[in-house]
Amino acid sequence: MSTSIVAPVVSTPPVTPSPSTYRAAVVHGFGTPLSLEQVPAARLTAGQVRVKVQAAGLCHTDIHAAHGDWPVKPAPPFVPGHEGVGIVVELGPGATEVALGDRVAMPWLGYACGTCDHCVSGWETLCLEQQNTGYSFDGSFGEYAVAYSRYVVKVPEGVDSMDAAPLTCAGVTTYKAVKVAGTRSSNLVAVFGVGGLGHLAIQYAAIAGGRVIAVDIHDEKLDLARELGAEFTVNAATEDPVEAIQRLGGADQAIALAVSPRAFEQAYGALRRGGTLVFVALPADNEVKLPIFETVLNGITIVGSIVGTRKELREVFALHAAGRTTVIRETRSLDDINEAIADLDAGRVAARIVFTP
Ligand code: NAD
Ligand code: ZN
Ligand code: ZN
Repeated sequence: MSTSIVAPVVSTPPVTPSPSTYRAAVVHGFGTPLSLEQVPAARLTAGQVRVKVQAAGLCHTDIHAAHGDWPVKPAPPFVPGHEGVGIVVELGPGATEVALGDRVAMPWLGYACGTCDHCVSGWETLCLEQQNTGYSFDGSFGEYAVAYSRYVVKVPEGVDSMDAAPLTCAGVTTYKAVKVAGTRSSNLVAVFGVGGLGHLAIQYAAIAGGRVIAVDIHDEKLDLARELGAEFTVNAATEDPVEAIQRLGGADQAIALAVSPRAFEQAYGALRRGGTLVFVALPADNEVKLPIFETVLNGITIVGSIVGTRKELREVFALHAAGRTTVIRETRSLDDINEAIADLDAGRVAARIVFTP
């Protein structure tokens, strides 16, 4: 008697085949248009994950990167983008912090050592070993991106990917800047620059209890600022913000988000005695002129603030899921990246552009 052997039915989990190449926006030289092209998909190394990008915000930092504006420059060719959100589709060796199918954000702080004094004291953003997404390694302006599983942040259910993208840099950076400013209830907070960062800074300053004065050079931005909770607005193109803010008693905190050293100087001049100026924007022109005497006599604090930690990004997502913040963004195709960069540079964008790959 013969028995037939039936092959057992093996159920295999769905596997997204890893791409060998993917389409991305590449900077080949500073100041030249980005080119949309197929790039090779790198093999994942220890601790890395591959993410299929759903949404990628355009930060002004991406323009600085593409222009080579800063003292420390990225090395072309590279793919910018550090507000990427997408689905984990491949796990590299030892990547245990996330699972296939997780929806994650890939922030500017792409990697840190995890063991230096900064890392172990809640200041991973100051780690000297850090790598930056879309700057020291390829970022999210493509169909896929590679990230480190320890430094991605899971996006909670209640947060739309299109909102999560701007929160991943503009959100966490201004959330942190308001913390660094030390805003407390009834403080007068001057927000200089109502762009991608500024429109969220207004909201975090209000959440902290501050009364907000928004400063920009475009009236539409100031209209938006009022909708988002600013009590006062100043158009610095037509009125001196220093005089206007001093008439209100001076700002307890001023947050410099405009890509203009002049705006930093005005933010300084807008402070009241004992006030704090937070440097956040990073204009190519890397210098401001500020008086020593008045800084000493008036007890002024000047402090730099760089993005925020993974924990702070979780807090930003939680606030958004709770309905406490509004993200103003428009969706564009990655194919239109050069036009988008020109529009952002010229102040023609309401707040944030988010690309779909
Ligand atoms: P953005 O272009 O969206 O916004 C800049 C805003 O400043 C615009 O609304 C513009 O109209 C306004 N502005 C320009 N000149 C002005 C002036 N003289 N006075 C008042 N307002 C003026 O840019 P963004 O994406 O919000 O980024 C802002 C800056 O912050 C960039 O330099 C970026 O690189 C930097 N940044 C820093 C960090 C950090 O961690 N420190 C993080 C992200 C971005
Ligand atoms: Zn950014
Ligand atoms: Zn470190």
